[in-house]
Amino acid sequence: MTQVLDRAAAHATAFLDSLSSRPIAATATIAELQDRLGKPLPEAGQPAEAVIDELVRDCEGGLMGSGSGRFFGWVIGGTLPVALAADWLTSAWDQNAASNLTAPAEAVVEQVCGDWAKEMFGLPKSASFAFVTGCQMAHTTALAAARHKLLRDRGWDVEARGLSGAPPLRILTTENRHESILRSARLLGVGTDAIVQVRADNSGRIELRALEEALSRTDDPTVVCLQAGDLNTGVFDPFEPACHFAHGAKAWVHVDGAFGLWAAVSDRHRRLLAGVQLADSWATDGHKWLNLPFDSGLVFVADAAAHRASFAQDTSYSVPTEQVRNQKDWNPEWSRRGRGFPFYAAVRALGRAGIGAMIDRCCAHAERLVREIGQLDGAQIVAPPVINQGLVRFLSRDGNHDAFTDKMIRRVQDDGVAWFGGVSWSGMRVMRISVCNWLTSDDDIDRTVASVRKVLAGERNLSPLPLAGERNMKD
Ligand SMILES: *Cc1c(COP(=O)(O)O)cnc(C)c1O
Repeated sequence: MTQVLDRAAAHATAFLDSLSSRPIAATATIAELQDRLGKPLPEAGQPAEAVIDELVRDCEGGLMGSGSGRFFGWVIGGTLPVALAADWLTSAWDQNAASNLTAPAEAVVEQVCGDWAKEMFGLPKSASFAFVTGCQMAHTTALAAARHKLLRDRGWDVEARGLSGAPPLRILTTENRHESILRSARLLGVGTDAIVQVRADNSGRIELRALEEALSRTDDPTVVCLQAGDLNTGVFDPFEPACHFAHGAKAWVHVDGAFGLWAAVSDRHRRLLAGVQLADSWATDGHKWLNLPFDSGLVFVADAAAHRASFAQDTSYSVPTEQVRNQKDWNPEWSRRGRGFPFYAAVRALGRAGIGAMIDRCCAHAERLVREIGQLDGAQIVAPPVINQGLVRFLSRDGNHDAFTDKMIRRVQDDGVAWFGGVSWSGMRVMRISVCNWLTSDDDIDRTVASVRKVLAGERNLSPLPLAGERNMKD
């Protein structure tokens, strides 16, 4: 048993050690990976160590260096060593975290972590919570509670009767909402037609006048989805007045704080979240800015009874221990991974101050990256970071800035030093810069700016010509 584990640990260490020097982008094509990994269904087995060795060999070049300090694409984050260690233990312990009967220690750890998280984020002590797979399921869990409460207030038991014939729900949000909000609406049977777009200002914040207007238009049960940290610019909606208007109209306020809610742990940035505690539900991730391994989202609901009513199920074979929280009463899953352990380990290792320092460090790096790339000849700042996200674009001599920006993003990826993604924003193609890795250092920023400078100088001299036919990068 232990031989194969030692082997995996050695491979893992080698991979982690290589992160500072390996190309950030994958170097193998999908076709190469299909060729290597797409073996016929084996009839007979083979020794465990050989399987692990071969898996590592066949995946070589197909692994993104997204755990590196020079990965700035999407909003991904790396992994704190202590969280990885606790995650290994989570797999080794293999507890079924469905209930306090199947996983007693995990149930207690989760309870402790839920309380810690509420304290860090400044959320009501009485709020309920759940550890879910990510922000997508955090939204789905929160919006299920919202659906329960809004319809119960209108005399409709949605858990028993479903949505057919129920008063129609609507969701007010801006065009800047994350796509996961749409998918939660689909999963919950609310449907994307129920989403009403409210105007945002130039920075991407919801316009209060437009929100007030939209709220006054009907008496339909309504959820208002606000953003704590917009995906592109990192802006925060004005929570205090928005919650005031929404609650005046008996609407439920949900906050998407996938990464932005973590600003609450920073003394410098906490003010951006003023009033966020007035909302009815909050969603965030552990696997982004806290730098836990994947499979870590968190949801909080102010109306704990509405949350529980959406998920609790009693069965004769899983009688809960009195007074102890049973995970499955708050979660959309039954059997599940012990997600509390990595969270617990990370918070214990860093402390509140250490997490705040990590948040501040990432924000400072993002500010420097955007400023120094923006100062390069042929580059332009589109949105300076509010926290850890910012936007730049590149200017072509022929005026086709969109195609040139996409080309630059690809060339920087090919250079292998750093990795950025592209996005369409305010009618233009831009390069998105996101810093949420605990590892990112001043040296990483220096090396990244040097790489972008070199690539940009080369491209500006080499290709003043039209760049038609370039691949368009998707979100
Ligand atoms: C990443 C992200 C999500 C989705 O979170 P997952 O953890 O990928 O499910 C939702 N909203 C925002 C703002 C995000 O950045």
